[in-house]
Amino acid sequence: MKTTDFDPQAFKSYFPALADDSIHYLDNAATTQKPASVIEAFSAYYSSTVGNAHRGSHRFSRAATETIESCRHRCAEFINAENANTMVFTQSCTAALNTLAKGLAENLQAGDEIILSLLEHHANLIPWQEVAEKKQLKLKFLPLKNGQLDWQAAKPLISDKTRIVSITACSNTLGCSSQLGELKKLLPKHCTFIVDAAQAIAHQQIDVQELECDFLCFSAHKMFGPEGLGILYGKQERLNDLPPLLSGGGMIQQVSLQNSSYLNAPHRFEAGSPATANVAAFSAALQFFKQWPLTQMQQHINDLCEQAHHRLSEFSELTLFSQANNTAAIVCFSLQQQELNIELADYLDQNGIAIRHGHHCTQPLLQELGQSSLLRASIAPYNQLNDIEALVNACAEFLSAQEQIKSETELSSNELDSKRAEEIKRAKSWQQRQKQLILWGKNISTKKDIQQAHLLIPGCESALWLEAKRGDGHWHFRHDSDARLIRGISALILSWVEGASSQEITDFDFTKAIDELQLKNYLSPSRSNGVYSLVEHLQNLAKD
Ligand code: PMP
Repeated sequence: MKTTDFDPQAFKSYFPALADDSIHYLDNAATTQKPASVIEAFSAYYSSTVGNAHRGSHRFSRAATETIESCRHRCAEFINAENANTMVFTQSCTAALNTLAKGLAENLQAGDEIILSLLEHHANLIPWQEVAEKKQLKLKFLPLKNGQLDWQAAKPLISDKTRIVSITACSNTLGCSSQLGELKKLLPKHCTFIVDAAQAIAHQQIDVQELECDFLCFSAHKMFGPEGLGILYGKQERLNDLPPLLSGGGMIQQVSLQNSSYLNAPHRFEAGSPATANVAAFSAALQFFKQWPLTQMQQHINDLCEQAHHRLSEFSELTLFSQANNTAAIVCFSLQQQELNIELADYLDQNGIAIRHGHHCTQPLLQELGQSSLLRASIAPYNQLNDIEALVNACAEFLSAQEQIKSETELSSNELDSKRAEEIKRAKSWQQRQKQLILWGKNISTKKDIQQAHLLIPGCESALWLEAKRGDGHWHFRHDSDARLIRGISALILSWVEGASSQEITDFDFTKAIDELQLKNYLSPSRSNGVYSLVEHLQNLAKD
């Protein structure tokens, strides 16, 4: 490890949520923890000075207005915007991107083209899909080359119909930066250039004038600020030409019964009472962030990221998808047996290590990479070598436990065997119960014939397919999932009602049975939602 003059322990000491050293928070690309000054600013606003900004002449309203407008100035300074009027507060980066897609599309014609990339977060994809469908626009995508955005591939994509290019500055899944400066040089003058800086904002000095972008957006929560606040930057004349997504109080110049005129930016985009506490907290986050040396912080997290890549690359059971020197200090990997990813994420959670499992809101990217899920550890300046060691050691323990499970194979001809359910009930601990469920799941055969969209049970992090057939008044089930644990849990639930009549299913007390096994205490909400939607599905079948 290289030494730097940034002290991560001093940095960490400002974060109350990280006071417990047994916690290893490595999900910073999802959201960062908050320093005490941010929490205090939020609570100070509610403790003393609540008022509705821009809506009164009394001292409380004036103070709230001052809170908002001073934060606007700070934000402008932070990204070197021309002036504070170019900064709009939104609910999130997602809201900012929706404002752009829906507003800009109003002036587009059928056949106009929008260029995005394969790296985009769903927030910079779905709003464009919606407007593309509505207005018959064409979406084109910049591909990847060696795990990075291939900006040179923009050349053949650009045509005289290209109206908008909206690209992430940094991938939230792989951590790689897009070379926006190079890309910008290829874009024709008439083309609107939008930068999604949600992931980049805490890792790169963003200078909107240097980037020469028309619009840029990010969220406060990914840079130690509060949730529920996004920032939309736009060149002033572009913002003033853009129709707002929301209308109502606080954004108007004049209103009559039949029509209204709107204020200029930024207020034309800020209809409704503002989230002043969030803005106050964000001001504190900006001040906090500015105190620390960005280059040294980056050096620190890059060192940790390289270390994590190096150590994890020693496991042959695992594939790394991120590059060791990526901008956002992301460690993106998958077990070769992809169905175990979800179990590893669970195991890490049980050991106080928070990483993310899933598609990271970038499903098209995962499809491109041939993955149904990815694991992502994402590093922030408060992380230290012990966090990386905890991650690597827990991965090693998990993998060696798999070796043991591998040897414990026993096949039952009856996949929904109620005797197994009884054994599971008798298990003394959740760990033992989980192991039995995993073994059960392991022995459920793959059923390609039922892996179909109409048989998919919604609401579960993993895919779960169920085929239900009724013969002689009795129900029979076949199921499959892309995760062993889910196959096992579903087998357990289905074993309760295999061969039952509709009346018996209706009468069965699923809630009691699930509670008795304490299933929901140990399943992440996205997974226990899946369990409940399986139950709901069974109950609905029985009603028909
Ligand atoms: N773009 C990127 C690259 C992101 O990483 C995220 C958040 N993960 C978003 C957009 C959306 O941000 P938010 O959920 O805060 O609206």
